[in-house]
Amino acid sequence: MKIHEYQAKELFAIYGIPVALSRAVTSVEDAVNAGKEIGSPVVVKAQIHAGGRGKGGGIALAKDEAAVREAADRILGTALVTPQTGPEGRVVRTLLIEKASEIASEFYLAITVDRARRQAVAIASRAGGVNIEETAEKDPDAILKEWIEPAIGLRPFQAHRLVRKLGLPKAAVRPATKLILNLYKLFCSEDCSLAEINPLAITADDELVAIDAKLTFDDSGLFRHPATQELRDLSEEDPLEVEATAVNLNYIKLDGNVGCLVNGAGLAMATMDLIDHVGARPANFLDVGGGATAEMIEKGFRILVGDPDVEAVFINIFGGILRCDILAEGVVAAAKAVDVKLPVIVRLEGTNVEAGREILASSGLEFRTASDLEEAAEMVGDVVKGVAT
Ligand code: GDP
Ligand code: MN
Repeated sequence: MKIHEYQAKELFAIYGIPVALSRAVTSVEDAVNAGKEIGSPVVVKAQIHAGGRGKGGGIALAKDEAAVREAADRILGTALVTPQTGPEGRVVRTLLIEKASEIASEFYLAITVDRARRQAVAIASRAGGVNIEETAEKDPDAILKEWIEPAIGLRPFQAHRLVRKLGLPKAAVRPATKLILNLYKLFCSEDCSLAEINPLAITADDELVAIDAKLTFDDSGLFRHPATQELRDLSEEDPLEVEATAVNLNYIKLDGNVGCLVNGAGLAMATMDLIDHVGARPANFLDVGGGATAEMIEKGFRILVGDPDVEAVFINIFGGILRCDILAEGVVAAAKAVDVKLPVIVRLEGTNVEAGREILASSGLEFRTASDLEEAAEMVGDVVKGVAT
């Protein structure tokens, strides 16, 4: 789960990571008032769950009240397009009004999980700011790393080593070491998968300030953090994924044209490969799981066909704990309720398969039932050749 910069900075403050005075607002008038309270100059910052806001025009330095009004009026309510949003952009509903810092230099600092090494890693670079991705690609040596033993945690000497390699001014060495250790404390205590400060600035008076703040939380750890759950902004998430999560379905929206409903993550992956193999593209990942009820199947089916990109549906079920008759009941109920016009290809196998096929056949609806996976693949291929442009 992602949160906004202003929310992340509130957590930073709690963990002793220096941030500038700021206020989150949702109207132009409040933006102007916040600017007056904080004192010019301020930075007006669009709050969306995507980076690259500076490049997209979502960050404005405002030297007086009129400039705050102009920037807030321009940014609030628009769909901000950045290198990370896609062409449709993200609607800006909140602004952060922050005391402008006098930046002398910008660094990159993050803690994340290195999956290959199965440990957390602290990453730092002198080339902080808006072009860190480019640096990582062209000059990987400019990216410094300290891997963290899970049982031991980040050691002070490691934080200190990063700071020395960054070449910070002398006055900033101790506070920067402390800052990195505090960021690690936050990362662990809040069950983050990413804690990033880009840029971490050194000001003209050698003070450290986290200019930007990005925190991503491990969804599997969220149940331990009710306060974090409160920070969720559903308007920033894919509406179909939000609907699916609410009924415990494991759904991820993709950009293809064949919706698939499968039980088991492994079979779901194989099904996506199969769809790809016959020349189509999966529109989603959906694992309804072993313990799915007819209601969950119905909901999953509705979500699938609610995706405007879907041109055909492929239901691939190997009934074990999930019985084929339960699946068929759910699918029939949903197909009747939403009046689907799309071709629906069904491959059923396993527990109560006869009963399941019977329910589909006597439903009065048109399902294309395959007797095995090979035939199902052919059917999907044929349908797609018909629908593909
Ligand atoms: P991002 O573009 O979404 O990563 O947004 P950031 O919060 O990182 O801001 C982008 C850039 O705007 C930073 O790298 C800074 O160069 C600049 N910026 C942001 N806040 C300030 C500030 O307080 N003072 C100055 N001088 N520049 C700022
Ligand atoms: Mn940034």
